[in-house]
Amino acid sequence: MDIEKICSLVAKKYLLKNDLEDKKLFLKKAQDSSYDKTSLCEFINNSDEDFFLGTFLRLTTIYMLKKMEVKTRRDVNNFIEKVSSINLEEYKELLKEKKHSVMPIVYNSITIKTSEKYLRQKSAKADLNDKNLSNYIDVLDTFCKKGEVFAMAAVQLGIPKRIIYLKNTNLELVEKYINTGKKDEDYNEQRVLINPKIVKRIGLTEFWEACASCLDNFGHVYRPYEIEMEYYDLNKKKHNQIFKGFEATVLSHEYDHLDGILHIDKADELFVMDAEKRREFRKTHKYNIISKTDDYLLLLNDIKNKREGEVKNE
Ligand SMILES: [Zn+2]
Repeated sequence: MDIEKICSLVAKKYLLKNDLEDKKLFLKKAQDSSYDKTSLCEFINNSDEDFFLGTFLRLTTIYMLKKMEVKTRRDVNNFIEKVSSINLEEYKELLKEKKHSVMPIVYNSITIKTSEKYLRQKSAKADLNDKNLSNYIDVLDTFCKKGEVFAMAAVQLGIPKRIIYLKNTNLELVEKYINTGKKDEDYNEQRVLINPKIVKRIGLTEFWEACASCLDNFGHVYRPYEIEMEYYDLNKKKHNQIFKGFEATVLSHEYDHLDGILHIDKADELFVMDAEKRREFRKTHKYNIISKTDDYLLLLNDIKNKREGEVKNE
């Protein structure tokens, strides 16, 4: 029995016990989507109006599944009983007080398989006065601590707001991992960029990119060498900052997520490779700086024209 099916059962059972404004609508959607994986994920992901509910259902489900063996129908019923006994209001309070360590947050990234439509949406501007803002950041923080990612956009975790979290933009560390397979487990930049806006793109680089939302799709992508970006931090302070090199590559990838664009859209070459094969491949296909100075779009056009010329001449 897979996780989405169980989520669906939990959603039904849970909603029967709790007083929510859109309970009827929610319940109807849950019933309609009961055993269809994609629509159920969309339904849970789109329940952003009550961010807590969507989060809560997924977190508790994943968390409990890790602690319990769920194989038979009876296991499922036991599981639902357990999840249903957790009080949503209590959980909300815990989140507010940041004491949610009582329930470890284990989160799954939304993928092109679970809901590509969700990933394709344009994220909304984050309200800097939103009480939930720190909870959103916590979700990103918790996921990135556990996950093997360079960075994440909030929408990948079911929060369609313009927020980016940077974990590792350190090329030296990335290359060390590529060459040795050894990870610096505790390394985390923990940088949060809210409502970022790229105002300038200069130069050109190339890198073979992967993405937590795109499964094993591995693509060759051109990105600017340097970007000038405006953004807000958690203290509502506005920044105007220049990002260069690998940092600019990672940020450009995440920035695209905010507009529903994935690296597989931009890649001119695409392979399907698992993590270990990607690491091996990157040993001979390294991050490369093509230009540090010229206009990004002109450089990109040059490459495109050159390639089209090559195709014609073949
Ligand atoms: Zn990504």
